[in-house]
Amino acid sequence: MFVSIVVPLYNEEESLPHLYASLKSAMDSCGASYEILFIDDGSSDNTLRLINQFAASDSKVRPLSFRRNFGQTAAFAAGFDHAKGDVIATIDGDLQNDPADIPKLASLIGEYDIVSGWRKNRKDKFISRRLPSMIANRLISWVTGVKLHDYGCSLKAYKAEVVKNINLYGEMHRFIPAVASWYGVKIAEVETAHNPRRFGASKYGIGRTMNVILDLITVKFLQSFSTKPLQAFGPWGLLSCLAGLAISAYLTAVKLSGHNIGGRPLLLLGILLIIVGIQLIGMGLLGELLVRVYHESQKKPIYVLRNSEIEKAS
Ligand code: UDP
Ligand code: MG
Repeated sequence: MFVSIVVPLYNEEESLPHLYASLKSAMDSCGASYEILFIDDGSSDNTLRLINQFAASDSKVRPLSFRRNFGQTAAFAAGFDHAKGDVIATIDGDLQNDPADIPKLASLIGEYDIVSGWRKNRKDKFISRRLPSMIANRLISWVTGVKLHDYGCSLKAYKAEVVKNINLYGEMHRFIPAVASWYGVKIAEVETAHNPRRFGASKYGIGRTMNVILDLITVKFLQSFSTKPLQAFGPWGLLSCLAGLAISAYLTAVKLSGHNIGGRPLLLLGILLIIVGIQLIGMGLLGELLVRVYHESQKKPIYVLRNSEIEKAS
């Protein structure tokens, strides 16, 4: 087993030396071979200088540096792209997660494809952090059908091939288990330690909740309809068209029987429903076109094989 540890860092100069030391001692004592990818997410403090220093004296450290602050999800994505291990573990750079948990999580990969940490005794403020996150976890579990207690925990281990095939956007890193579940992966949740932040400040406020909810809508939409957009929009379009046509037929009959229909609000509704219906069907058809262009230009199959060796050979 070769473990790649991915650490996103945004202005974590004070935590970093402690983190590096405890990562090393945790991994050296478990005996697995490993590399540490420190991703500097456009920090303005000494973070980049520190990770370059570590790398100069330790070949296991691989520093990556963003030109500006692209966000935690982008940092994870860069780590996944550059990781060489067959197991990839992610951990926050602020010492809130305990590196000693990594071997435990990584050892379960094989039996599982994703092992997610669960901060059962989470050490964050209740009102501003734990409460929104409790609601978010319930909501995400319910909407995506993948039941986890702690989606927001950064401490996770993945089988590399699973996570390398997922494209990440926005605040999407927390949805990796949900997205991966479409491909049919086995997911486990393991209790992990959690500490209060010792140095620096959290990079997030309450505003993140809104982004998470918007991303959840995107994820749900993609999950349900990304391969069949016409089936998403079509039924509503047809329904709207049919209702519009029925109203128009009724009004035609009224007109033929000699009454005036020019002043009937129903006339407007009928026309509106027909136009909206045609729009919806048109959107579905456009979506179908996009799906085809995407799959054909990317040479992406519409299925995922369990055994990637077979995939490579064919
Ligand atoms: N982080 C990052 N880019 C950002 C924001 C955060 O790389 O734009 C890193 C940060 O340095 C830390 C981890 O992501 O290692 C989690 O951030 P933070 O501790 O602020 O989040 P919280 O624990 O409060 O949810
Ligand atoms: Mg933190």
